[in-house]
Amino acid sequence: MTQAHDGGWIPVRKDFVDPATRCHARGASRRHHGFPEGQAYILRDAAGHEYPFGEDCARAALAQPALLRQVPDYTERDVVPRTALPELRELPAGPRRRDPGQARAAEHAAERAAAIRYLVLRMEKVAAVPRVQPTVRFPALEDVYAQYQRSGDIAPAQVRRILAIERSPSTPPRLRATNLLDVYTAHVKLERLIAASTSVDNIRFLRSLHDWLARHLVLTAAQLAAAGIAMHPQAFTSSGIWGPEAEPPAAAGRFQSGSLF
Ligand SMILES: [Zn+2]
Repeated sequence: MTQAHDGGWIPVRKDFVDPATRCHARGASRRHHGFPEGQAYILRDAAGHEYPFGEDCARAALAQPALLRQVPDYTERDVVPRTALPELRELPAGPRRRDPGQARAAEHAAERAAAIRYLVLRMEKVAAVPRVQPTVRFPALEDVYAQYQRSGDIAPAQVRRILAIERSPSTPPRLRATNLLDVYTAHVKLERLIAASTSVDNIRFLRSLHDWLARHLVLTAAQLAAAGIAMHPQAFTSSGIWGPEAEPPAAAGRFQSGSLF
């Protein structure tokens, strides 16, 4: 997957993009379409540069469009638009018949995507949120993250190690994959609202929520509603993320004094 396929494009991830972003592919009309949902597939060219594509345009650019289903999806905890359910659309009408080798390959691809997603969430996407909990960036993952940045891939042994870290009892529930995805999604949405807002009071309020999110790695349903951001119906409900033991030590002292709700 690190080798360039026909046309030189490598599928890297599905991610949030700025709503003003245009698709890199050019249609017959030579007009670039945008991304009203704020999500795109990111493909890497032979020179290592990354560009956003719509789903159909990404398929058209790839020699093996099925590889799109194997990329880490950082948008999974966004609200699912009714019209966009690619997995359902791709399923054949009848039951799927696959030989064991194919099933194993699909399982490995899914594990690889899950491991890369967890690695990148902890070391890059959530770690880069301003004023975020310092516990997010994990020293034990520095080497494999540097290796992933260099090569665009991780070895099977590292896939198993990363998934074991994610599931380990010593990993706090707020630092597990689903909650980090919720944090990243809420961060993106709050930043969009802050960028679009013209009211000083509203911007101040949204920034205070954003700071809360960065410090505690959760938002309450009341905070989400007050911010007016639409999230996945199960956002911030992962097992173990609430309760006194869930609060990371660095934030525990400020939990009561800094309460917004
Ligand atoms: Zn396009």
